[in-house]
Amino acid sequence: MRKPLIAGNWKMNGSRSDNKALLAGIKAGIAKAKVAEVAVCAPYIYIPQVAEQLAGTPIAWGGQNLSTEAKGAFTGEISAAMLLDFKCKYVIVGHSERRTLYGEDDALVAKKFAVAEQAGLIPILCIGETLEEREKGITEQVVARQIKAAIDEVGIATLGKGVIAYEPVWAIGTGKTASPQQAQDVHAFIRGQLAAHDKAVAEKVRIQYGGSMNAGNAKELLAMQDIDGGLIGGASLKAEDFLAICTAAG
Ligand code: PEP
Repeated sequence: MRKPLIAGNWKMNGSRSDNKALLAGIKAGIAKAKVAEVAVCAPYIYIPQVAEQLAGTPIAWGGQNLSTEAKGAFTGEISAAMLLDFKCKYVIVGHSERRTLYGEDDALVAKKFAVAEQAGLIPILCIGETLEEREKGITEQVVARQIKAAIDEVGIATLGKGVIAYEPVWAIGTGKTASPQQAQDVHAFIRGQLAAHDKAVAEKVRIQYGGSMNAGNAKELLAMQDIDGGLIGGASLKAEDFLAICTAAG
């Protein structure tokens, strides 16, 4: 039985006072989330604040990106060790905004996965097709390529130590959600790709859905057999909405 993971991706949002109120709100209601594991991935600069406010709660935290380098002359970068220094459990790698706006390709994302996992973080590997790719009918080809890049780099056993987030790019921040069946079909395909390498890993690995998941649609999406939680952008910025998603998992 896979424990669903609901992870908030704050992206480049927040302020010290907004975060304080948001985290207090999440903490106040988290006991109602009986089934899901819950995490928030904050901008680097706010991770110490998140760590301080969430210490001693069941809520984990993480980063949204990391460097492939361990230390040194890499201005503006953050290492895995730095994230661990502030007790991050998770780190997102290969979010579509990193891929499209910052030119991260499959090979770099796979390397980030490897570096994060080796350091002791749990990488959340984001994959998903653009609208153009879906309309061309190549969704499966795209996600298969993205998964293969990670397996080629780290092997199936190590991939299984991370989390996969299927995020159709056309659904991220657009208000357009994949229907539960559309999402389930791709999740099942992804699990099948993993099973071709190792059935036990495929059974165990959590595959989150991401893309305009909200308080209104979470229950139906999370009810699908191969959807093991959500990576939540916009709706993770309001405690009430985020908690509604966390509790929709049961
Ligand atoms: C995301 O940033 O990963 C995401 C899914 O965003 P949103 O929920 O806003 O679509």
